[in-house]
Amino acid sequence: MSGTVSRRMQAEWLREIGVDYVLPRRETLDDILKELTDCRRCALCGGRSTIVFGVGNPRARLFFVGEGPGSEEDRRGEPFVGAAGKRLDQWIARIGLRREDVYIANIVKCRPPGNRAPFPDEAKVCLPYLVRQLRAIGPEIICTLGATALNFLLGVEEKITRARGKWRDRDGIPVLPTYHPAYILRDPAREAEVFEDFDALARRLRLPAAI
Ligand code: URA
Repeated sequence: MSGTVSRRMQAEWLREIGVDYVLPRRETLDDILKELTDCRRCALCGGRSTIVFGVGNPRARLFFVGEGPGSEEDRRGEPFVGAAGKRLDQWIARIGLRREDVYIANIVKCRPPGNRAPFPDEAKVCLPYLVRQLRAIGPEIICTLGATALNFLLGVEEKITRARGKWRDRDGIPVLPTYHPAYILRDPAREAEVFEDFDALARRLRLPAAI
């Protein structure tokens, strides 16, 4: 049976041929969030104001993965709401989508002190929640923002300048690494490469904005 046949259709077909099949309930984002309430699984909990779980469409076709919340995100409980977030919103708008159409989450859900990158042990503890969010949403494409997101999500150690724009895979989902918007704010000359990457996302998703 093709990958495009929904689980519900498979269940109906099994019922028709006499196999009694109860649809297993897919874990929801709320189920995952409940488990994180008051999370103390790593040291980052000590410095956070809020757990920054993720935001967007629970049926998003496109899932962005960042590094970890900054101070503004920690205060507001939403990823990418500071200056870097505004730039990300512009890139999303460039391919004809809104923040509400996609899903955005980070490798770690609590703010690392001084905006440092998460340590490997922090990322290791938090990554399973991101993987479960990916499963709950079932996006067609993941776009990682910056080296930290790429390396922790794929378990590699690569330079973003070499990896960006090259399609990868995580659990059967195509992954496109691009630069982190905070990096582009510091080095705007590289934004043309991000535009190329977003055009590639639009083409792969067959968005009307695709060029
Ligand atoms: N940078 C990130 O990687 N994630 C955020 O949520 C904000 C800034």
